[in-house]
Amino acid sequence: MKKKVVLIGDFAVGKTSLIRRFVDDQFSDDYLTTIGVKISTKKMKHDELELDLILWDIQGKSSIMDFPKNYLVGADYSLLVGDLMRTQTLEHLEEYKLMIENYTAKSKVLLALNKSDLMASEDLKETTSSRFVNKLGCEWFYTSAQSGHNVRELFSRFMEIDFSC
Ligand code: GDP
Ligand code: MG
Repeated sequence: MKKKVVLIGDFAVGKTSLIRRFVDDQFSDDYLTTIGVKISTKKMKHDELELDLILWDIQGKSSIMDFPKNYLVGADYSLLVGDLMRTQTLEHLEEYKLMIENYTAKSKVLLALNKSDLMASEDLKETTSSRFVNKLGCEWFYTSAQSGHNVRELFSRFMEIDFSC
């Protein structure tokens, strides 16, 4: 079975890095802008179920108006990514979620609050993130593409059917 996953979020939040960590278990500090879209595949196994996750790494645009919405067609899942160190990127998650609702028929949504390695205090993380994500009602994970924290856990969640957003 194949499932299409689209990664969406502002410029430099770590979309490409999360995919790289998940698919190749690697991380790099180099910043290479994704041009257009890059598609990678990862095979997953859950109980007896085999799944190919087709990961669409979509280039962030400066405004949602310019977002290439044709890339969203047929998405089974959406992963919205924000950068914990830049609250503006978290504020934008709500608009991205609306966009997904408008342009995909059935895509389920998870949120990744990325770069958790850079935010030392648990308390700070808690207040920063809850302000932005609780109102969206979607399940969310603190992730670090750098350390790998929660990256597998996050993508594995797509294998399960009991999440609601
Ligand atoms: P994208 O534009 O959303 O695809 O972002 P990238 O994956 O290209 O990452 C942008 C920059 O943030 C790069 O310099 C990455 O090395 C860095 N980065 C990505 N994820 C993390 C993370 O979890 N922790 C830290 N410290 N840096 C990260
Ligand atoms: Mg990228």
